[in-house]
Order: sequence, then structure tokens, then C-alpha cells
Amino acid sequence: MTFAVHGLAVARGIAIGRAVLVASSRVDVAHYFIQPEQIPAEIERVRQGRNAVVEELQRLQTDMPADAPHELTALLDVHLMLLQDEALTGGVKHWITERLYNAEWALTTQLEVIARQFDEMEDEYLRERKADLEQVVERILRYMKGVASPVAPPASSPRRKTQQDLLLDDTVDVPLVLVAHDLSPADMLQFKQSVFAGFVTDVGGKTSHTAIVARSMDIPAVVGARAASQLVRQDDWVIIDGDAGVIIVDPSPIILAEYGFRQRQTELERERLSRLRHTPAVTIDGHRIELLANIEQPGDAVGAVRAGAVGVGLFRSEFLFMGRTGNLPGEDEQYRAYREALDGMQGLPVTIRTIDVGADKPLDNKVHKDTHLNPALGLRAIRWSLADPAMFRTQLRAVLRAAAHGKVNLLFPMLAHTNEIHQTLAQVDLARAELDARGEPYGPIQLGAMIEVPAAALMVRTFLRYFDFLSIGTNDLIQYTLAIDRADEAVAHLYDPVHPAVLRLVADVIAEGERQGKSVCVCGETAGDVSMTRLLLGLGLRSFSMHPAQILAVKQEILRADTRKLVPWALQVLDGEEPAALLAS
Ligand code: PEP
Ligand code: MG
Repeated sequence: MTFAVHGLAVARGIAIGRAVLVASSRVDVAHYFIQPEQIPAEIERVRQGRNAVVEELQRLQTDMPADAPHELTALLDVHLMLLQDEALTGGVKHWITERLYNAEWALTTQLEVIARQFDEMEDEYLRERKADLEQVVERILRYMKGVASPVAPPASSPRRKTQQDLLLDDTVDVPLVLVAHDLSPADMLQFKQSVFAGFVTDVGGKTSHTAIVARSMDIPAVVGARAASQLVRQDDWVIIDGDAGVIIVDPSPIILAEYGFRQRQTELERERLSRLRHTPAVTIDGHRIELLANIEQPGDAVGAVRAGAVGVGLFRSEFLFMGRTGNLPGEDEQYRAYREALDGMQGLPVTIRTIDVGADKPLDNKVHKDTHLNPALGLRAIRWSLADPAMFRTQLRAVLRAAAHGKVNLLFPMLAHTNEIHQTLAQVDLARAELDARGEPYGPIQLGAMIEVPAAALMVRTFLRYFDFLSIGTNDLIQYTLAIDRADEAVAHLYDPVHPAVLRLVADVIAEGERQGKSVCVCGETAGDVSMTRLLLGLGLRSFSMHPAQILAVKQEILRADTRKLVPWALQVLDGEEPAALLAS
């Protein structure tokens, strides 16, 4: 039966494929694809894990005192029985062999499949055995955590099938779409190299970092789809409509044909836009606009150049630090990564932002498990760096060294206090002095601050005294101005990029930068939103940084824009109570 689930549209386009469910587990598990030759080793890892748990439970049974309650022995029997059940072991083998899931992923997937069967049982006693199953699987996972796991290999990328192929055959090699309750940005990064044609998550807001990574992958994605991971089943056919923020499950042939048509239209539109790649971004009245790329990994630089970016406006360096279970990259490793980005940009400038972890960007794979009371307001971004100056200076030295090989700008996230500015600049001086002491060469860099909290926007003049350039992080500026957690889908309807207060702050920062002859860029998601391009141009913005996939569509808007008309209109929007209505006019 066809049904639709509604969420938030975060990455445009249509994806049609079979659902791959990533089950959430109380134990953190990695999800990655293995190579075919690793199948026996992965099956062996699960077998060893299961055997170890069986032995442990048998030992418990043997050592059980004679007066132990009967329920306890019965429970151990149930657990042993579940562990040896073919439904579990056979299913896990299936996911490893047929889908090339790593062992932990295969286990949690099979757990989900069996758990659903338990849910459907009439008998309450049997239904409750689901909890036992979850416990034994967790035991296996915990055991496996202690067993060396092979490093995630680069995932293979099978040929993407056309809609025609898809309707004709239904073999294993069909597009896959990922459906999960939640995915950490680090998980998303792992999937970046993989085969998925689209993503759906139950939670998350439009500018949550998971959504941002999905957008950077340029594949259709819907977040905040509430119960999607409960409603969709493993292997269901799913259409992700990334434009409307809807997923259609088990589509009828007519719906499938309609979306197949729309998919082809999107492809044609992309081809048409690609002709603008070498066209300079100049408005009708002759203003040259700088279109820069946001990247998460050094390898993204190649795509940025291909999309026609004239530099990197935001390298989110924290992605180098994520998912490494505490083992942070050292100075040399970071230096190599920054150089790789510079090389990838072929002489174009690269703006590296210092590490911005915390809130919805935990360092390890955990999803939103920050134990702080209010992580978005807690030890995040520059606060995190200043709390660990040795770690911070390691990064600063790496960036300074990379700057000897190309044009590097250094950007600091989430500054709000003058004393944070002083401390940050002092750390830069210290990092330079450390390199001098080592006789290590380094290059000149421009220093910039992100304007992400209202306090920073309101004291823009102070910021401009200390920094060479500013970059407005609208994702956070909106979050902190409106007190809306950007990752919380429950308040996503209140997250408003054109709220008069937000626009006022953005406009004032742009105007002050212009007055002082210093560059101001917008690098939040607003910069890549074509419905905002005219307004930002009208407010005087001349530098935009966005995911490479959005550059050409924004360029098209710029080529059609005349700032002489946009400036008075933007002022009107700015003074209005309902900018959204004026924007649509
Ligand atoms: C922003 O806040 O707008 C920004 C660009 O930084 P991030 O999305 O990484 O927090
Ligand atoms: Mg930010």
C-alpha cells in the first residue's frame, strides 16, 4: 500500500530506491560497507562474538547458586535460545554476504527485522521477548567492540541505475536509500563515499549538521520525518522527494512513472546549469560576486573547482577530528590535509575554520549524546578550542605551515566576547612563536571571525578592529537570535532565515564591513538558498559561500539580478514586519 511521510526538505532532487534501514542501537556501532573478500572475516567476527556470549551465559548458568530464583535461570535459557536461533545468525549472514554490511551493522539490521516480528505477535509474553533479544545483541556488540575491527574500507560505488533499468529489473544492484532514526555527522561522512542515492532521518532540522553533510553530498534528503524509520521496512521501495520534503513508500506504478519523469527533468536542469560553470558571476549592473565553496574534507576541493567556485569560503575542519574515538589528528596530519585542500583548489584561496565541535557535532560517532545540559549553549567551537590551548595551537601551527604553500585564510567560529578575541589572537601569536623556535617555515594568513551569535553582530565594529574579514554563519545566527535549536525538528517551523531580527543583524554586519572596506561573506545555508540570493545582493552582500552543488543555481540568480533595483526593495523588506511576504512578491 502506498503511503507518504512528511519531513523537511534539505537536499533537492528525487531519489528512487530500496530502503536500507540503519537501526539505532544503545551501543554505538559503525556502519560501513566491506569488500567481498572480507565476508568470511566479518561472519567470523560475529560468530566469535556470539560464541563468547554463549559461553558467558553458560558459565553464569553453571555458577548459579541453587537457591537462585527460577525466573533467572529461565531468562538465561531464553537468551541462550535466542542466541542460537537461526533467524538471528542466518539473517546476519545474509546482510553481510548479500549487502556487504560490516558485522555490527548486519547485527543491528537483523535485530530490527526480528524485533518487528516480535512487535506483531499477539501474545504479550512473546512480544516482551523483544527486550531479551535486544539484550543479547547488545552483549554481542559489546564483545565485538573489544575485538579488533578492520578499518572501514572505501565503499564501492556501483553504477547508478536509470529509472528504466529500475523498472525492468529488481536485482540486488538497484539504488539504495538510507533510512535512519538519526545519523551523526561522522556517520554521514562515512556514507559520503558510499552508494546511497538518498537519505531520510526521523530527526533533525534543516540546518542540522547531518542535513548539511547530506546537502554537500548532493543527493536528495529529507530530515525530521518523525516516524519514517518505524514505518519504512527494510527493502521497501521508497521515493525521496527532496524538493517537497516527502517520502513515498511502496509507490504504485503510476506514481513511480511520474517521479521518474521528474527525475529526468532535474537531470536536464542540471545539465543546462552546468553551462554556466565558466561564466563569471556578474550582476546586470556590473557587480562581480564572489562564489565560494563550503567543504568538509580536503577531497571536496576537487568538486568545488569543478562547480566553478573561486575559492573555499568555509572548510569545516572539525570533520577531520570526528569519529576517531579520541585519537585527534596531530599537526603533521592536519598540515597534510590542509595542503591537500590547497592543492585541490589549484591556487585558489582556502578559508580554514578552526575546529567547531560540540552541540550536534560530537567528536565521536554518538548521535546527540552530549551530556551537557544545553550543548548548543555549552562548550562548543572557539570555547572548546580555548579550553584546550595545546590542541588549539596544534591546529593553528598546521594551518600556518600550510599557508606557506598557498593563500590561506583562518576563520574562528562562535566568538562572542572581546576577551575571547584577545585570547584567540594571543594563541595565534604563540603558535607563530613556536614555529619560529622550531625554525619551521609558515606563510602569511588573513584572520577572520564568524558572526554567529547576536552579540557578535551587535559589536561588529569591535570585531572589525581585530579581524581582516568576517563571515556570517546564518545557521547559528538564526539559532541563537530566535532561540531555536537548529537540530530540533519540533521547532523547525520557527527557524526563520527572514525573521526581521535576523535580517537586521545580517544587514548591519554587511553594511559595516562595506563602510570599513573589509570583506563580509555569508557562509551559512542561506548563501546557497536561491530564494535568498536577490535579498542578500540587495543588502550589499558580494561574497557567498555554499555547497558546491548550489553554486550554479545561485550564479544563475546573480546573472539575472540588477542591484540598482534590489537595493530599494531590500530596504523595504528589511523594514517590513513580514519579510517573507515581501520576499515572495
Ligand atoms: C553557520 O553557523 O552558519 C555555519 C556556517 O557554521 P556551521 O553550520 O558549521 O555551524
Ligand atoms: Mg556555525
